[in-house]
Amino acid sequence: MTTGSAVRRLSAWDAERLRGLAEEYETPLYVYDLERVRDNAARLQSAFDEEEISYAIKANTTRPVLSTIEATGVGAECASAGEVERALAAGFDGADVRYTAVNPPARDLDYVVDTAADEDLIVTVGAADTLDQLAERGFSGRLCIRANPGVGAGHHEKVSTGAAPKFGVPLDRVPDLAAEAVDRGFDLVGLHAHAGSGISGGDLEAHRELVARMGELSRTVIADVGNIEFVNVGGGLGVPYREDQAPLDLDAVAAATRDAFGDVDARLGIEPGRYFVADAGVLLTRVNTVKPTPETTVVGVDAGMTTLVRPAMYDSYHAIRSLAADARTREPVSATVAGPICETADVLGEDRSLPDPERDDLLVVGNAGAYGYEMSSNYNSRPRPAAVALEGDEARLAVRREAVADITGLETWSE
Ligand SMILES: *Cc1c(COP(=O)(O)O)cnc(C)c1O
Repeated sequence: MTTGSAVRRLSAWDAERLRGLAEEYETPLYVYDLERVRDNAARLQSAFDEEEISYAIKANTTRPVLSTIEATGVGAECASAGEVERALAAGFDGADVRYTAVNPPARDLDYVVDTAADEDLIVTVGAADTLDQLAERGFSGRLCIRANPGVGAGHHEKVSTGAAPKFGVPLDRVPDLAAEAVDRGFDLVGLHAHAGSGISGGDLEAHRELVARMGELSRTVIADVGNIEFVNVGGGLGVPYREDQAPLDLDAVAAATRDAFGDVDARLGIEPGRYFVADAGVLLTRVNTVKPTPETTVVGVDAGMTTLVRPAMYDSYHAIRSLAADARTREPVSATVAGPICETADVLGEDRSLPDPERDDLLVVGNAGAYGYEMSSNYNSRPRPAAVALEGDEARLAVRREAVADITGLETWSE
């Protein structure tokens, strides 16, 4: 099987094809290449060939992306009842679907307990309180306990979950809760932890530490309550957002994971989200205003923080490239690429060298396949963008562009 290169850079996307898509579907537009999603899945499966892999679907829930990933045979990790519904609708087998409850709204638990009865879902709890709520609903399905491993990792403090008290049961309380769950008749099948997002070469130590702690915990729990089926050590595999950043060495991460896990008698699992989809997606946006200022040239575009919030929310870097047909003949200028939203944070990139920008130029933003469309919003009454999926030479609309009427259509007030 061909697994493609470890990274797909923004420069590898075909400019002419992207210009054609922007003409046909208008901007802002998300573009997902399903072949690249498949490549990413194949590389994960080859590096983690002994482990159980799930896709954390919150990174990108667009139907063709879900169906493509489902077809590779991995499971689905879901963060809400809505995601469970979408995973099942896309064809994931219920037995391969996990719902990880984080302060779960009652409505989520109602749905999941109901669905679990038919679909054999696994429910992961991160608080004793959630266990009580499952018992109240007569949940009889498979249960997993999420530990707070006390180590976090991530590219930004806002994505580090491993040590944040919000997530999971403190490590030292897990054995008691596991014993209690078994006493109460729950079918305890797994343990889980997730350190956060963005494991890179330098972060491997944090990952190793998390897995080691989970290995230790598993031994204790297995000694106390008997066998469990699996231990899942979360997602967080990073991708190179900067053009000069090296890709993650998946084999090294897999080896470190196995080393730290040792001889625990349970299947080891991982659940990346970003890694499957980040470099399989780009965002196309059109320049609408060029404004030279003493500090920089402000390049106004039609995509902003409501389209792609990562730069505003996490100070994330996304590569930006001009797709102007004559880009090569233009002088580079230092530019700030800013969106149409009335917020100072509404900037896609600062201090970028771009070929002297002109109104109507098309720009492409890289690594937009993960947490892009998913985190889009309607702030400023901005309709959300459209998304197309590429399959070989074919392009198909996956999500239509929202209209203002879609937003106002929810209002019930009439004068
Ligand atoms: C978000 C999330 C993931 C995936 O994180 P990535 O950084 O996208 O790999 C995995 N597990 C849980 C519990 C998550 O919340």
